[in-house]
Amino acid sequence: MKIVTELAELRVARRALDGSVGLVPTMGYLHAGHLSLVERAKRENDHVIATIYVNPTQFEPDADLDSYPRDLERDFQLLRDAGVAIVWTPNDQVMYPAGYQTWVEVTEITQLLEGAQRPGHFKGVTTIVTKLFNGAQPDRAYFGQKDAQQVAVISQMTRDLMLPIDIVICPLVREADGLAMSSRNAYLTPSQRQAAPILGHSLSAAIEQLENGERNAAALQQHILQILRSEPLTDPEYVSIAHPDTLLELETVADAALLSMAVRIGKTRLIDNMIWRANENDL
Ligand code: AMP
Repeated sequence: MKIVTELAELRVARRALDGSVGLVPTMGYLHAGHLSLVERAKRENDHVIATIYVNPTQFEPDADLDSYPRDLERDFQLLRDAGVAIVWTPNDQVMYPAGYQTWVEVTEITQLLEGAQRPGHFKGVTTIVTKLFNGAQPDRAYFGQKDAQQVAVISQMTRDLMLPIDIVICPLVREADGLAMSSRNAYLTPSQRQAAPILGHSLSAAIEQLENGERNAAALQQHILQILRSEPLTDPEYVSIAHPDTLLELETVADAALLSMAVRIGKTRLIDNMIWRANENDL
C-alpha cells in the first residue's frame, strides 16, 4: 500500500494502476462503517484508493475541527489489511495553498436539513470531494447513507457537472445496540454512549408506525421527538420527515420518506437517518 501526501506523488501512484479504481473518501479514525465502503469498492474495482483528510472548510467556526479524533497509524493498518492500493493523506497546504480561491457549490438542496444548521458545510464538502475526484480520478466513488444529505448533494453535483464517476451509496452500518457508527461516537462519555442508541430506536419506532399505516408527517415527527425526549441526555436539533430525493419536508408520506435527525448529547452532535419505502423493492 502506497501512502502519499503530495498531489505529484498521487499522480505517479495513480498512473501505475491498471484497470478500474474505486475511491473511498474519509476523514479518518476509521470504523466498520468506513471499512464496509472499502470492502464494497474492493469487490467492484481492480484497485481502491482511500483518502484521509479532515477538511477544515466543511467545519463551522467553533465546531470540532481541532478536537476531531485522529489515529493515522491505526487507519493505515486497517486500510492495508483491507487491501487498499493507495492512501492519499493530503494536508491543508496541498488542498488550500496560499492564494486558493475556487469553490464548488450546489445551491438548493444544500439549504435544507444539515445545510440549514451548518451554513457553508456543503460548500466545503463539494469543493473537497471535487478535488479528491480530480486527484484520484476514480471510476466509482463510495459514500455512506449515514450522511444521507451528503450523498444527495454529491449525486446532484456529479450529475450537474457531468463528472465521469459512478456514485455508489452504501448502507448505514450500526453498532449491535443500534447506534450509527461514527468517528464522533468517541467523544461520548459512558453514560452518553448508553443513551445514544435512542436515536436509532426512535427512527425504528417511526418506521414501524409507517408500516402500520401512519402517513401524517407531523405525527411521525412528534412520535420520534417524544421518544428522544424520554432520554434526558438528548437535545434534539431537528427531526425531519422529507422526500428522499428532493429532501423537501412532507406533510403526508406517499411512497417514500427520509426520516433524519441531528441530536446533541452533551457537546457531541450526532446524526442518524432511515429511509422508508412503501415498496421495499423500489430503489
Ligand atoms: P467520514 O469519515 O465521517 O467523513 O465518513 C467517510 C465516509 O464514510 C462517508 O461517505 C460516510 O457517509 C461513510 N460512513 C461514516 N459512517 C458510516 C456508517 N456508520 N455506515 C456507513 N457509512 C458510513
